[in-house]
Amino acid sequence: MPLTEHGFPVTITFDVDAETLWTGTRPQMADLPVALSAGRYGPRTAMPRILTLLERFAIPATFFVPGLTVERYPAMIEAILEGGHEIAHHSHTHPWLPDLDSAREREEMEKASAAIRKATGRAPAGYRAPGGEFGGATWELIREQGFAYSSNFFDADSPYLHEGTGIVELPWYWSLDDAPYFMFGGTTFRRTLQPPGPVLDAWKADFDLLYEEDSAFMLVMHPQIIGRPARMKMLESLLAHIARHDRVWFTRCDALAEAVRPALQSRVEYP
Ligand SMILES: [Zn+2]
Repeated sequence: MPLTEHGFPVTITFDVDAETLWTGTRPQMADLPVALSAGRYGPRTAMPRILTLLERFAIPATFFVPGLTVERYPAMIEAILEGGHEIAHHSHTHPWLPDLDSAREREEMEKASAAIRKATGRAPAGYRAPGGEFGGATWELIREQGFAYSSNFFDADSPYLHEGTGIVELPWYWSLDDAPYFMFGGTTFRRTLQPPGPVLDAWKADFDLLYEEDSAFMLVMHPQIIGRPARMKMLESLLAHIARHDRVWFTRCDALAEAVRPALQSRVEYP
């Protein structure tokens, strides 16, 4: 049974890490100007391209932005908001959370919330952990901060409710993330860049099966990675494929969480 009357939910999301993708876990990289410039490519070159594409397809999207990146690129944040998109929480400096003690975790949580509130006028509704893992205090902080949704776990394809809370989980997974296929450089050049064609085939196949099952489609990208030319053509092809399906509902994560919560709550037997 469909989760919402709006149709099959498609969430197009971006983790706008910029330089923090490197410096969050390796502070010594702050001294490597060329590596950092690959992060800057996101806000500087990729974001205008991405916002234009989203506008063309009339797709509202969610951007998970570290607090430091919110503060560094105010014009980009304004452009995201003007496009009708959502800004969500993605830590402050993009650290590896399992390495932090609870005081540092709290600092990461609170500083980024404050930066987002200052830039957007409202608290972020959702949280996605940097690097795809929690620290010891993360879950408690998510509950305490009053997030409406979390987009972190790998155990489902469609939204579910965290038991005993009103927090909706919007799960994702690495196979629908651009980084494992295309991330390159930084401090290592061991990886091989994948051409976009096979990745497009894989993403379309994921969409097709999820659409048949009437679950949900969650795509995770990084402007500095997906925003390179051939990959943008690939994203355009994917969006055109998705848009051809009549039950598709392109939605921001915050709107999806609100839309599915009542149905999910009525399914919970042991709150
Ligand atoms: Zn990230």
